[in-house]
Amino acid sequence: MTLLESGGRADDAATQSLYRGASMAQKYFQLDAARSRYFGGSTNCWMGFCRPLDEDDFEPFSRIVEVLSSPYDEQRGNERYAEPPRPDQIVHETFCGT
Ligand SMILES: Cc1cc2nc3c(=O)[nH]c(=O)nc-3n(C[C@H](O)[C@H](O)[C@H](O)COP(=O)(O)OP(=O)(O)OC[C@H]3O[C@@H](n4cnc5c(N)ncnc54)[C@H](O)[C@@H]3O)c2cc1C
Repeated sequence: MTLLESGGRADDAATQSLYRGASMAQKYFQLDAARSRYFGGSTNCWMGFCRPLDEDDFEPFSRIVEVLSSPYDEQRGNERYAEPPRPDQIVHETFCGT
């Protein structure tokens, strides 16, 4: 197995600076501060805590799939999915800026 890694085993300013850049779409954190460019990658930002998924982690996804399986039927209990977006929910620009 070969591991290609831009940085070393610890953070260093010169390598980290390669992550500098400007975010052109949505406002985001400073790009060279929100990612780690050394062994372990961005898990170094949060110490790599992991845990198994909960039963209901995919519940919103499963529900929307169920709702979209009959998009033209009125569905009791799912009325909110038929409502238009509130003004603050309207997406004017996608993440990639298109
Ligand atoms: C503050 C913070 C908290 C987070 N908390 C959580 C959390 O609680 N739970 C969770 O699941 N996720 C969390 N995340 C997200 C998670 O860390 C990232 O989604 C994940 O690390 C992305 O993995 P990746 O392999 O795509 O990229 P990265 O982990 O960023 O790894 C990319 C690797 O490639 C290397 N690299 C970059 N360019 C080159 C190059 N040109 N040549 C060779 N190597 C290169 C980098 O040095 C780095 O090691 C958090 C992120 C941040 C910033």
